[in-house]
Amino acid sequence: MSELTPERLHNLEIRERQTKAAGLPALKYSLKHVDEYMHYGAGLQTLATLNQKGGFDCPGCAWPDPDDSRTPMAEYCENGVKAIAEEATKRRADPDFFARHSITELGDMTDFELGKSGRITQPMHLAPGATHYQPVSWQAAFDLVAAELNKLDSPDEAIFYTSGRASNEAAFLYQLFVRQYGTNNLPDCSNMCHESTGTALSEVIGIGKGTTTLQDLHEADLIIVMGQNPGTNHPRQLSALEKCKENGGRIISVNPLPETGLLTFVNPQRPLKVLSGGTDLTDIFLQVRINEDMSLVRAICKILWEEEKKAPGTVFDQEFIEQYTAGYAAWTKMLEETDLEACIDGCGVSRELIEEAAGLIHGSSKIVLCYAMGLTQHENSVDVIKEMINLLLLKGSIGKPGAGICPVRGHSNVQGDRTVGVWEKLKPELRERLRAVFNFEPPTEDGYDVVNSVKAMGEGRAKVFFALGGNFLSATPDTVYTAKGLRQCNLTVHISTKPNRSHVVHGRQALILPCLGRTEKDLRAEGEQFVSCENSMGVVQMSKGVLEPASEHLRSECAIIAGVAKTTLGDRTTVDWANLVRNYDNIRELIAACVPGFERYNEKVREPAGFYLPNGPRNRRFDTADGKAHFTVSPLSNHALAPGEYLMMTVRSHDQYNTTIYGMHDRYRGIHHERRVVMMNEQDLAAAGLVTGDKVDLSSEYDGETRYARLFQVVAYPIPSGNIATYFPEANSLVPITRTARGSNTPISKSVRVRLHKR
Ligand code: SF4
Repeated sequence: MSELTPERLHNLEIRERQTKAAGLPALKYSLKHVDEYMHYGAGLQTLATLNQKGGFDCPGCAWPDPDDSRTPMAEYCENGVKAIAEEATKRRADPDFFARHSITELGDMTDFELGKSGRITQPMHLAPGATHYQPVSWQAAFDLVAAELNKLDSPDEAIFYTSGRASNEAAFLYQLFVRQYGTNNLPDCSNMCHESTGTALSEVIGIGKGTTTLQDLHEADLIIVMGQNPGTNHPRQLSALEKCKENGGRIISVNPLPETGLLTFVNPQRPLKVLSGGTDLTDIFLQVRINEDMSLVRAICKILWEEEKKAPGTVFDQEFIEQYTAGYAAWTKMLEETDLEACIDGCGVSRELIEEAAGLIHGSSKIVLCYAMGLTQHENSVDVIKEMINLLLLKGSIGKPGAGICPVRGHSNVQGDRTVGVWEKLKPELRERLRAVFNFEPPTEDGYDVVNSVKAMGEGRAKVFFALGGNFLSATPDTVYTAKGLRQCNLTVHISTKPNRSHVVHGRQALILPCLGRTEKDLRAEGEQFVSCENSMGVVQMSKGVLEPASEHLRSECAIIAGVAKTTLGDRTTVDWANLVRNYDNIRELIAACVPGFERYNEKVREPAGFYLPNGPRNRRFDTADGKAHFTVSPLSNHALAPGEYLMMTVRSHDQYNTTIYGMHDRYRGIHHERRVVMMNEQDLAAAGLVTGDKVDLSSEYDGETRYARLFQVVAYPIPSGNIATYFPEANSLVPITRTARGSNTPISKSVRVRLHKR
């Protein structure tokens, strides 16, 4: 992208922040996207089957669908409609589009403009030194991939990335191909989002996933929502929060930002709610400082401990603690020594509010704790998540109805991809199954996760980058460094639906392999096929497209992977790839043979609401070394900011999904037409001699290196002093690749020390 100049900024407009989420405006914006981007027929057809039993699964987030009746009118949210309008768009990025736009011109487009150019209709090749992508045949593309992969000195010089949109069937085939090729270099988007969850929960409760069902949220006495913005990132969760309230439950929200979706929900599907002004959700809002959730929870536990000591067994669930946990004594000893005032000062929330929250928790026994990136993308995230488990364990709120831990996944099948084997660490039991079923020796060495993949490309240790979906460059931290690594590759390959930044920041040569979308029919030799996905609650269900493909040249993810595998592996492979993609039942048979919980897969996935995967803690079975759930003791956060430094968190706007920019209207926050903005505390603005609209550059300094993000505009916003918020991917260039979450290696996108420089 050529140099950013003030003329490139849009007309930033600040409007009033909204206090009510969804409602009629959600309907208006949904219809606007259908009108602007889709043919009406396709719009009606897709929305009639979106998230319906036997229909297709939303390619947006991984919020579950009800097991029982689904809302016939609309089992989806505004951002689900935007996701469909993106995929089922009537716009086409066909060979003419690529002929009209050189790679340099594509590079000068914003992410919004790139994404709106439409569906890619044919395989495209960017030859070494070429200025334009050119159409290429599928077989020629497969041959090129095979040639580049097979000329590497080691399979470990290739990286195979997966975004969470890939189906279980495609993900299983992918990991099988990559492991038969000879490497475990299988980074995925989970490395950047809930890897800290997997690491922490596996250690303390014996499973790397959440333990709740949707019904648990409806039945909870109390739901605590931490480090999550459900109104934008998981909007149907608001219906579950509404149900909880109607059932007498209460809600505590913890966030540095007063997100609209946490305040009041106007359910657009309930006219009386629209007329009555909706349902107030949050009972107690705790506006915590960035990455001080642990100090806050530690303060609450300290207050509860003091109450428990006065009347043992009246606050803590001693029977549960006795029977199912370990580490309680060390944990209470730590609480005994904890300085409450220090915790209160650290988290920035008033004692009164903390005591009020402690009171609510005291009186609740069925507690659900929901969270997302606000807890998982910090250097101490693994400890933070373990601290949340301490809170649930003391109340016995794991493994009973209305209770549990609920990490909410941001991508529709990110959990499923991991379950069927996409991970840079090959579990011993899967390794044994792959060896037994496919009669080959899977690689033993752990591969590269996302951060190590970026480093491997940056240091020239990796030479081919292959992506199953996603937008690697925009999703990853340290953008300038990541771009350097990608450009050093001999070949970059992307299985994609639409153009994105990763197609224009490319290797010496590049390929785009356009695939079918979730909304589209997938006709194979033995008829129309369906795929399957796993949501945040561990439910696997089928997804079957309804639209004719956007182009006759498109192939499914499964068919593309089979083509690449067959061509690359030649007679080294023990797999009949062509046969597997004649009928995906063949793939599911193999998954059933290799992955626990998928027995009778083809039968169970055809159940209208799909099936639940096994989840030990849901029944108070903890698959830890001693079979117990563990209390843990961890140090508190310590962000000693220097004068002039701020702690920055990157967030999504309401008109965005991961790196896909749906529009330029973050309407809940009142920020319109511009994404290069810094949300900043009003007093901090004044102290820095800035006013809303002023232009600044940002810098971050880590490990002797200074990184920049240029040309942003500051906006006064209700955020704790010393904290600022920016959007990703625009601010990702500030996130250092050299600093990650301990234990999970997740980028620290939610707590980066930065400085502002007035322009
Ligand atoms: S809540 Fe998530 S999965 Fe459901 S419709 Fe909205 S974006 Fe799609």
